[in-house]
Parts: sequence; C-alpha cells; structure tokens
Amino acid sequence: MSPDDTTRSTDDLTVTVSGGSMGGLFTGIALDRAGHDVVVFEQSTGELRSRGGGIVAQRSVRRFLADHDVADPSGLTTTTSERRFLTADGDVRTATPDSMAFTSWDAVYRRLRDAFPDGRYHTGRRVDDVAPATGTVTFADGIERAADLVVAAEGGRSSTRAGLYPDVSPAFADYVAWRGVVPESDLPAAVVDTAADRFTFYQGDGLLFLSYFIPGADGGVEPGDRRLNWVWYDTLGERDRGRIFTDASGAERRFGVPPGGLRDPVERRRRDRASTTLPPTFAATVAATDEPFVQAIYDLAVPSMVVDRACLLGDAAFVARPHTAAGTAKAADDAVELAAALDDHDALDAALAAWDRERTDAGSRLVERGKRMGDDRLGLGG
Ligand SMILES: Cc1cc2nc3c(=O)[nH]c(=O)nc-3n(C[C@H](O)[C@H](O)[C@H](O)COP(=O)(O)OP(=O)(O)OC[C@H]3O[C@@H](n4cnc5c(N)ncnc54)[C@H](O)[C@@H]3O)c2cc1C
Repeated sequence: MSPDDTTRSTDDLTVTVSGGSMGGLFTGIALDRAGHDVVVFEQSTGELRSRGGGIVAQRSVRRFLADHDVADPSGLTTTTSERRFLTADGDVRTATPDSMAFTSWDAVYRRLRDAFPDGRYHTGRRVDDVAPATGTVTFADGIERAADLVVAAEGGRSSTRAGLYPDVSPAFADYVAWRGVVPESDLPAAVVDTAADRFTFYQGDGLLFLSYFIPGADGGVEPGDRRLNWVWYDTLGERDRGRIFTDASGAERRFGVPPGGLRDPVERRRRDRASTTLPPTFAATVAATDEPFVQAIYDLAVPSMVVDRACLLGDAAFVARPHTAAGTAKAADDAVELAAALDDHDALDAALAAWDRERTDAGSRLVERGKRMGDDRLGLGG
C-alpha cells in the first residue's frame, strides 16, 4: 500500500465483490445498507440455479434476512420438533426433542437477489485477476476496475484464492454426499408420515443418511407443497472409486456430478445399494428421486482472509464439511462482521485486520469441527 492508502478511512468505500451467490449477496446487501458503494460481479450468465436444495436455516441466516429487511424468515422455512434415528429395519432407535428450521438454497438466493439493486449486480462478468495492493480487478475481457476494497466470494474453487495462496487447495475427505430432492406429492404416504415434523437419520456402517422437508420449488412451506431433501454420506466402493466423477458426457468432474449428470451404471449401482443397505423408508425416498446427484466432501482453510485490500469470504476462504450445516451461516456472519468492523474502525487497514483475526479464527475452528464430526460419523478415524 502507498502511504495514502494506509490512512484510507472506512467512510463511503467503493467495493468490488467477485461472485454473486450467497456470500456475494450477503456482502453486497450488508455493505450497501451500511452506506458503501458496492458492485457485484458474477461469472455465470443469467440466474443461478440450485444444485440440490436443502440448507439448515441457522439463526445467522434468519437474522440476516430479518435485520436487513430481506424477508420474513418464517415465510421460507420449514420446521421440525424431533430428531429421530432409525434402525436398519426402519424402527425408531432414538427420538429426541429438537427444534430445527430448514430452507432451500433457491428460496434464500431469490430473496437476497431481489433485495440487491439490479444496476449493481452484473452477470457474465468473470474476475480473472485481483491486484490486492491497489484494489484493482481485471475481468476476463481485459477491462479493469479499481476500488477501495475487493471481496472475493467466489466459492470453494476461487481463482482469486488460488492466486493469493497457490499452495492451498481443497483436500478430498475420502467420502461423498449423494443427494436428492423429491416433491412431497411424489412420495409414498408412509415416507411422508415418517418424515413429517422430523429430522430423520440412519447411521450405518461407513454411511450416514438424513432427510428433512424444505420449501417446494415454488416456495410453498405447507404440507403437500414441500420437497423432501435427502443426503447420503458414503465412502466409495472399489468400482466407483475414481469413476463416479466422470459424468454422462464423459467429462471429468473433481467436485461432483450435478442432477441429471450421473452415468447410468453409477446411478443404477447407487439405487441397488439403497435398496439393500438403507431402512425401507429411505430406500423408498431414493427410489422416488428423479435425478440423484453427488458431491465430493472436502476441507479447505486459508491462513488469512485478508491480503492488503483483498478479502476472501465464505467458501472461498473456508469450506467446512456439511455436517456442521454452517456454510451459508458462515458466509452471512462474514458479511455482517465485515460491515461491523468497517463501522467500528476509522482506518480501513485496522478494520480489515480486526475482521481477519476474528473470522479467520472462526473459519479455522469450524473446519476442524467438521473434520471431527465427519470422520467420526463415517467411521474414518482421525
Ligand atoms: C448455483 C449454486 C447452487 C448451490 N446449491 C446449494 C444447495 O442446494 N444446498 C447447499 O447446501 N449449498 C448449495 N450451494 C453452496 C452454498 O451456496 C455455499 O456453500 C455457501 O452458501 C457459501 O456460498 P459462497 O457464496 O461463499 O460460495 P458459492 O455459493 O460457491 O458461490 C460462489 C460464486 O462465485 C462465482 N464465481 C466464482 N469465481 C468467480 C470469478 N472469478 N468471477 C466472478 N464470479 C465468480 C460462482 O459462479 C458462484 O456463483 C450452492 C452454490 C451455488 C453456486
């Protein structure tokens, strides 16, 4: 930084946000409402579409939506009052009172997108390079944009992170999450009965299956309108090892295969395994799913979220395993705390240093917790 830059105040900042998913929109809204001049650039063209569906509506996410007048959280959440573990035969192993709220990725994304001004959200704009010392970004078309602050909310495969930290990359955790979403109306009545008002699990040998209701594709949260979201953590058998991430078109995918992309033999083996290893209600749930898909589980942690005027936020900085159910909440907290740090400090570098200390610590702890939870539940040891 030049001498002038070190004295840059935190008033009326210009901010470039790279990435327009959850993290980018949380940041855009939080900083815009705090009076800064924020523009978001998303590489995808058009609307982002959900890869799967379900997310736990943690308190941070609900509070963000309410505090920033984005939405009334109760209008986009389903709730449960019991956590239930089943036996392999489908009997109840344990049932514990537990209040949880769930929502869908698309319901939250849509509300956030509607709450952020169209004129400040640009699609089809990929940030190719970030110069942290000057706050200048260069887009894929060669155009440059200078700002006081750059926030890279680019997800787990962030190119800005790769540029800042070439030695940090996602580490495969040796298991995957098979996933699916089924409209409630497509489910057998017995499955709806078992899932109603419950967060339901089956813990098997080297596998964990769970399901919960989320809002329907049109946002409905009433019984009959919802979708059942399921996640099946599983280690890979010899036949699938190294092969499931080749999709139906023959392309190699390191991070998973989206809905509709699984090769036929892989999908068939998965359905067979469901019918032989899962309790009947979960086997029926998988059977009723049109397009199951798969995501690799991985860990990622950066040593620091701030380099000069560039910040890494959300999954670009830390990816914690989904057992923590905290990825979206972490992105919301990162954004809220960034706005708060800028408000609490007069000088930009002091604000960023304070934010970095707090959020890097929170992110590192969450990643470690996710490793313990996942390895424990999948019986991987370590
Ligand atoms: C389309 C989509 C669907 C998802 N669906 C689910 C789901 O159903 N359930 C669930 O639990 N989680 C889902 N996630 C993940 C979840 O959103 C995140 O884990 C979490 O909310 C943190 O979000 P993030 O914004 O940090 O990262 P991400 O959500 O991964 O978003 C990163 C964004 O940055 C954009 N981007 C990347 N590089 C650049 C660049 N160089 N220039 C410009 N833009 C760039 C990407 O296109 C992407 O939109 C989904 C993510 C995406 C992108």
